[in-house]
Amino acid sequence: MDGVERNKHARRRALVAGGAGFLGAHLCRRLVEDGYDVIAMDSLVTGRLSNLAELLDDAIGEHRLRFVRHDVTEPFDIASFDARADIVFNLACCASPIHYQAQPVHTLKTCLEGALNLLQLAHRNGARIFQASTSEVYGEPETHPQKEAYRGAVSTTGPRACYDEGKRCAETLFFDYRRQHGVQIKVARIFNTYGPFMREDDGRVVSNLIVQALRDEPMTIYGEGLQTRSFCYVDDLVNGIMRLMDTPSTFTGPVNLGNPVEVTVLELAERIIALTGSRSRLVRKPIPTDDPTRRCPDISLARAQLGWEPRVALDDGLRRTIAWFAMQEASRNARVRE
Ligand code: NAD
Ligand code: UDP
Repeated sequence: MDGVERNKHARRRALVAGGAGFLGAHLCRRLVEDGYDVIAMDSLVTGRLSNLAELLDDAIGEHRLRFVRHDVTEPFDIASFDARADIVFNLACCASPIHYQAQPVHTLKTCLEGALNLLQLAHRNGARIFQASTSEVYGEPETHPQKEAYRGAVSTTGPRACYDEGKRCAETLFFDYRRQHGVQIKVARIFNTYGPFMREDDGRVVSNLIVQALRDEPMTIYGEGLQTRSFCYVDDLVNGIMRLMDTPSTFTGPVNLGNPVEVTVLELAERIIALTGSRSRLVRKPIPTDDPTRRCPDISLARAQLGWEPRVALDDGLRRTIAWFAMQEASRNARVRE
């Protein structure tokens, strides 16, 4: 290989597992903008290729993104894709309760075997690796807001356990790979994040309530709606992930990434009604088993170590998300009319 060839291949390469999902697609876009060659790997169980459409369009993406359909529970060798990775992101796992509970055994396998396969790949490639962990590792928290030092209160047997315990065990695998093999790991505990590119049938609260509001359909409130969450706009989250990846190798996390502004589900619904001008009414549905009562991140560690905090206020983020869903609804209605 001559010097020019070598230079051509010297661009930084990122592998994003779960790259066609909601967060994964935003991250791929950011990595391409930052000059990476990106491989997006996804089984497409909840992800969609349309999320990556503009990056897969050669004219715009300039061949900077390749898509590989693959289930991370199956071993793989990145060399078989004629590629290498300098940086690996593990986002592969359905995040919405209805989707991860639909195939709970596969969810657990995805968390464990996916993490193991990606850690082995990072080890072989000498790559830095990111784990998308979750606020769910805190379960039904007994302290508030949640700090990273809090060890959580998680059911091992309930319907959320496949995800919560899977993610807890994945964190353990990451730290053992660092201790045993010296792999450079970065673990973020992500709190509820929302934005464009969520599926309209994703099942999570922000997408459900926005789509229902735009259709003037009843908006589903589970339980009394007094349970709280803290919602982070996706651009803020992606900035946090990139900041984390740039920290010195001695900083591994786990670090909370989320918006510390806590709201009840009812307050969220009221904001969405106000912002959409919807005529929807609220309907009560049973609260799902083990639904956490309160959740809010303490982000002091992220502020101190990453110099990061969310910038997008909830109303602004909701406006952008509503505008995106409104466009999807308009194209859907146009297709129905044709
Ligand atoms: P998502 O469901 O939109 O994306 C997950 C992606 O992973 C999808 O594209 C899906 O097809 C893919 N996937 C699932 N199982 C796979 C498998 N076995 N092999 C290959 N691909 C597989 O969810 P998201 O919101 O984009 O979440 C991305 C990651 O971030 C997940 O790991 C999730 O646990 C984590 N996370 C997200 C949030 C949030 O609020 N969005 C909060 C905490 C953690
Ligand atoms: N929720 C709701 N209506 C919906 C979907 C969800 O009231 O249509 C509630 C759900 O019970 C939970 C909160 O909203 O208390 C957040 O749910 P989501 O599935 O978005 O995320 P998670 O429970 O994983 O934090």
